[in-house]
Amino acid sequence: MAWRSSGSTNAELISNMLRNGVFNSERVAAAMTKVDRANYVLDKGDAYMDSPQRIGYGATISAPHMHAHAAETLLPFLRPGARVLDVGSGSGYLCAVLFHLVDAPGSQGQGKVVGIEHVPELVERSTENLRRDGLGRALDEARIEVVAGDGREGYAREGPYDAIHVGAAAPSMPKKLVEQLKAPGRMFIPVGTSEQKIVQVDKDETGAVTETELIDVMYVPLTDRPQ
Ligand code: SAH
Repeated sequence: MAWRSSGSTNAELISNMLRNGVFNSERVAAAMTKVDRANYVLDKGDAYMDSPQRIGYGATISAPHMHAHAAETLLPFLRPGARVLDVGSGSGYLCAVLFHLVDAPGSQGQGKVVGIEHVPELVERSTENLRRDGLGRALDEARIEVVAGDGREGYAREGPYDAIHVGAAAPSMPKKLVEQLKAPGRMFIPVGTSEQKIVQVDKDETGAVTETELIDVMYVPLTDRPQ
């Protein structure tokens, strides 16, 4: 299913994914169409392939179908004005998609996305990527912030968050991230080592937490910072 959706333009990639049933939400499609993946990859020739790609420093930008799946899973919590944390933000691609979802009409400029990434060079590069993709003003106004740090700790300063996306696999559920979810709120996180599953963590209005396993996946692990 993954490769079938590749396109020759960004718009074609998104519409192929929609047509192939990779995801269904028009809101997600509109947000992904605003983000040109060519601004976030090293090899521009492969920008619209539905596959992960190396972005340097041992990191990869996830495949578009995984980004679509993540955004769609979090969608009920990505209302205009919501606050979002993207852990292991890498290229910055998903920060951009999430930002377009929460910076929609009705947000009154309140929507905010924080990316946390432990490779400082990627923090810098992703910030450049976001600027190239037209999001310089959002960065200047701190409506998108990319910070260097250990994502396993979350980023309590800007929390709690309506939605948290984790882009690398945790060996077990990171407590601090669950703490930093709003009530209600939802997290999308790959959990496991040799076998991994996407876990959807829901916190309800009372603060009660439930975990639902979604699909088997293969993500790079959340690690200590490379020396
Ligand atoms: N969603 C990103 C995924 C990047 S791959 C994208 O599509 O571009 C996973 C990222 O997690 C890598 O950039 C890696 O450097 C980062 N990472 C791994 N362990 C981390 C940690 N403990 N804290 C913060 N970032 C981490």
